[in-house]
Amino acid sequence: MLEAWREEVVRAMLGRGLDHRRINELTGVHRTIIADIDHGRRKGKQVEPPVYGIARCPTCGGKVTMPCRACRMRAGKTSVQETA
Ligand SMILES: [Zn+2]
Repeated sequence: MLEAWREEVVRAMLGRGLDHRRINELTGVHRTIIADIDHGRRKGKQVEPPVYGIARCPTCGGKVTMPCRACRMRAGKTSVQETA
C-alpha cells in the first residue's frame, strides 16, 4: 500500500509539472497509481501543491518535511501515557 507521505510527494511532483514516468523513476510509485493521483481518483483530499518535500502531515496537520519527524518522535517516545 502507498504510504500517505509518498502520495503527498507524488502530488507535489505533479504540482510541479513532472510527468508520470519521471515521478515513477524518482519515487518508485507505480505509474497507474500516479495517474490515479493525478486524476483525483484516489480517496485523498485535495491538497494545495506544496513545495517539494514539504507536505501536510496527515497525523498532526502540520506542514512538515515528510515523513513527519514530530509524529515519529511522538510515536517513539510517548507511549500510552498521553491520552489527549
Ligand atoms: Zn505530523
